Amino acid sequence: MTFDTAKELELINRYTRKTLTEDDVYRFTLTLCDNEVDRDLERFTPEALQELAKLFCGKTGLFDHSCKSEQQSARLFHCWVEADKTRVTSCGEVYTSLKARAYMVRTKENEGLIAEIEGGIKKEVSVGCAMGSLCCSVCGADRRAEGCAHEKGRTYNGRLCHDVLSHAIDAYEWSFVAVPAQREAGVTKAFQKEEPMTESILETVKAADDDLLLGKKQLHMLQKQIGELERAGADAKAYREKLLSDIGRGVLIALPQVNKRLFLQGCGGMDIHALEELAQSLQKAAKALLPDRPQLAGSAQKTTPDNHAFCI
Ligand SMILES: [Zn+2]
Repeated sequence: MTFDTAKELELINRYTRKTLTEDDVYRFTLTLCDNEVDRDLERFTPEALQELAKLFCGKTGLFDHSCKSEQQSARLFHCWVEADKTRVTSCGEVYTSLKARAYMVRTKENEGLIAEIEGGIKKEVSVGCAMGSLCCSVCGADRRAEGCAHEKGRTYNGRLCHDVLSHAIDAYEWSFVAVPAQREAGVTKAFQKEEPMTESILETVKAADDDLLLGKKQLHMLQKQIGELERAGADAKAYREKLLSDIGRGVLIALPQVNKRLFLQGCGGMDIHALEELAQSLQKAAKALLPDRPQLAGSAQKTTPDNHAFCI
């Protein structure tokens, strides 16, 4: 396929502040995604690819999902869907792919990257997008709303069960991943395709040991998750303090010869389950010693339901 340089520069210059010339930019073609079942057992419909073509146009791509500098990014300036009638997918559809033309401004910093792209090293692309519909390939049930009995990855009547993605809502980013089947590539794609993926974001953040770029949506999800964790942390802290106070009271009654302060110091390293057990056994012992004391009995009754509420 040949590309008209003048036309392409016109498209590129819609995105630039100063007018770029042919020598300023490096242009290349890439395949963003297709309608074949992928490693995550997901497949875009050809219609979804058409929708994504519109959404991806103008989107910036990164390298290995890290963004070391503005210079190391490329922008898609033209996206289109291409059907290859000579190829049939595993689902019996005409092989259809979302293609794009991208450009990078040539700088000293990205000479190496350009060489890698030209040499075919940077070949794998992963995309981040939000899809409105995710259906079972066997029965068509909406996986998120209703679900169904079919298991992804299993074969039913000779057909591999997978998720069918359609109704593209948004395209966040695309990126090059250096090595196919790299763990990070899978993770990134997973958390970008669908919205309720906070756990994947957390996993990605935990596993990351390099610069990491999060989309706005992902950042908001992460912030929300941090808020929830902070609240859960505060609850857990309050519960721990309550257990320690119960233990202190139990020590005073059941083990009067023991130094309460030292005993509680020793409890410092215990996890919540050990503290619960200790508090309960001390309460039992205290109760046995003071069976008629209503105050303590009251507190013991109150403690038990709380314990269940806090089963972590
Ligand atoms: Zn199903």
